[in-house]
Amino acid sequence: MTATPQIEIFEPKVPHGPAAEPRPGSGAAARRLGVLPMPSLEWNEQVARETAHLYERVKTVVPPVEWPFFAPYVKAINTLKEQRNAVILAHNYQTPEIYNCVADFVGDSLQLAREATKTKAGIIVQAGVHFMAETSKLLNPDKVVLIPDLKAGCSLAASITGADVRLLRERYPGVPIVTYVNTSADVKAESDICCTSSNAVQVVESFGTDRVICIPDEFLARWVATQTKVKIIAWKGHCEVHERFTAAELRDYRVANPGVQILAHPECPPDVIGEADFTGSTSALIKFVKDKQPKKVVMVTECSMADNVAAEAPNTEFIRPCNLCPYMKRITLPKILDSLVYLREEVEIDPAIAERARRAVERMVQLKN
Ligand code: SF4
Repeated sequence: MTATPQIEIFEPKVPHGPAAEPRPGSGAAARRLGVLPMPSLEWNEQVARETAHLYERVKTVVPPVEWPFFAPYVKAINTLKEQRNAVILAHNYQTPEIYNCVADFVGDSLQLAREATKTKAGIIVQAGVHFMAETSKLLNPDKVVLIPDLKAGCSLAASITGADVRLLRERYPGVPIVTYVNTSADVKAESDICCTSSNAVQVVESFGTDRVICIPDEFLARWVATQTKVKIIAWKGHCEVHERFTAAELRDYRVANPGVQILAHPECPPDVIGEADFTGSTSALIKFVKDKQPKKVVMVTECSMADNVAAEAPNTEFIRPCNLCPYMKRITLPKILDSLVYLREEVEIDPAIAERARRAVERMVQLKN
């Protein structure tokens, strides 16, 4: 069903400066649980033997010459995870050696949030960006949640503040506020419910109202507006990775690769989505490739995702427009290892904010699929 999209867009009156860096963790976990000795990172026959099954998973995307650098980290991280009773939650945009060789759970923001509610581990290492680690902490207030690099931020999350949301609420009293999970805890705390790109339409329609405020991604909101009769009030925030794609470049791919299937993420601009054969969240794009096994695809989303899906979809050729997320790429194997050895950086959220933000995330997680 496609309704005529009804949408109204807002942006901050005064543009925000660069996002404030999240506060460093207190180091409380390191004081309580202790720092471990740094494991050996030597490449030798034993390491090669013990990691050979993991290299099998990535051999189509990681050249053999790079494996001797990665393998000692992979072995050390997997050993330390057991020692620490820790799990690694990795987003689909993480590099293949993280996604395939050390992660315990992989997925999009919604899948990772759901996993975060189920884990029995005492420590969660978030291989993703800061708002994802905050979401894990919101759902696991008593666990230690670590982000291997505090500068792993997000342009979308930096586009809006809690004060902006309060202004929207004043302007539209009684209109429900749906907030994309790609936001700070402060913004979530001012919202009625969160959504991800996989459930945004369902969440918007869950209120049964004729208008909904859907923030902060303008393009996601525009896409939602094409899928529902609900009028959408949006915010002019953008993902700096997806906004760079253009419709012209997709047309060029189609001309150069007859029969190619173009799959786009809803954070892309509307004219890019207009060129796509299928639009969906990262998990929906992965499902499309696995179910339909197209001969050739272009994945119009973050670069590493094509690598990660390619490792599991040998029958599909991937044409790779490569827009990297500079924030996701701050997470590396050496930083994950440091995180497990030194228990840093610990994510902390002001309890007053956390309680309200948690409610918004839990409402989303509890929605039926
Ligand atoms: S890909 Fe875009 S939305 Fe995702 S973390 Fe990077 S900047 Fe943020």
